[in-house]
Amino acid sequence: MLPDLDDLNIMLKDIWERKWITNNQVYHQRLEAALCEYLKVPYISLFTNGTLPLITALQALNISGEVITSPYSFVATTHALWWNGIKPVFVDVDPKTGNIDPEKIESAITKRTTAIMPVHVYGTPCRTREIQSIADKYGLRVIYDAAHAFGVEVGGESVLKAGDLSTLSFHATKVYNTIEGGAMVMHDAETKKRIDYLKNFGFKNEVEIMAPGINSKMDEIRSAYGLLNLRLVDDAIAKRQAVAMKYRRRLSGVEGVTTWGDVPGVRHNYSYFPILIDEQRYGMSRDALYEKMKAHNVLGRRYFYPLISSFAIYRGLDSADPKNLPVANDIAGRVICLPMHHELSDDDVERVLDCIVK
Ligand SMILES: *Cc1c(COP(=O)(O)O)cnc(C)c1O
Repeated sequence: MLPDLDDLNIMLKDIWERKWITNNQVYHQRLEAALCEYLKVPYISLFTNGTLPLITALQALNISGEVITSPYSFVATTHALWWNGIKPVFVDVDPKTGNIDPEKIESAITKRTTAIMPVHVYGTPCRTREIQSIADKYGLRVIYDAAHAFGVEVGGESVLKAGDLSTLSFHATKVYNTIEGGAMVMHDAETKKRIDYLKNFGFKNEVEIMAPGINSKMDEIRSAYGLLNLRLVDDAIAKRQAVAMKYRRRLSGVEGVTTWGDVPGVRHNYSYFPILIDEQRYGMSRDALYEKMKAHNVLGRRYFYPLISSFAIYRGLDSADPKNLPVANDIAGRVICLPMHHELSDDDVERVLDCIVK
């Protein structure tokens, strides 16, 4: 999604005239206000990408020891724990969604557990109520990696309201982008203030630092870009939904291909379109199909393969044992995310489907 260049030029000219190109200026403030309204959340803090709010959220809540998380995600989720010196504890996922399975969380809790860090994979909401009741029972914090969940609502409520903190990514590949960018969503003004300090080296004022902070500020230019893209996002999501319907219609009868449907009551953002291949019934492995698509210049992505727990740096953890994660390993071996974009034409969609439907 790219904003209109003329509109962007008008904003750039204004930024040039103001001569403030970063450090919480007008466009930064406007984008925060606009996102609060669009996402129906009370407080948001912009970041320079989607990884630093994860790292900062763990810092802000003083999380240490062990954190329960999902292996079925982008590596940044677990990397954020590593950067905080926290031991990741992987818990298996729900085969219906790819999200952490709440029924398997309790048995992974130890005396050292301080938090749960689930991921709303593909924008499908986690079972947030069950996760919260476990967190409450054991006195744990919950930080959601909501990088995929921009604009996702359950029963008209933003999924970003769940847990203690949620983080978003506005990377160019996501459904809403500011080129590189991200944000953290919080419940109260006090936390917002703390986070705003933390992302600016911890500066409270010119002479005081409240904690060792980081630099993760979004600049004025990307804030302006983000304001313009926000005008386009509803239309982009509607077009992605139409692509998803076309994919589903033709794939529904294909033996050995599973698609994940909409969840009733959920406003999806159609950020990804994953399919699962059953090699026996489909007659071809996931990797063979992936290569076949590639040979036709159709670029699927094996999100999420390899599992985070399979990377050499994390493989040695007890919880990374594939026997502990049968569902996540099964899905990671069978998934392909089909091309998904609001500008995919009918012909593009047919070309993708022709590779899969024999
Ligand atoms: C994209 C992504 C991130 C990282 O966001 P960046 O903006 O690329 O730093 C984190 N978690 C998940 C699940 C993601 O998909």
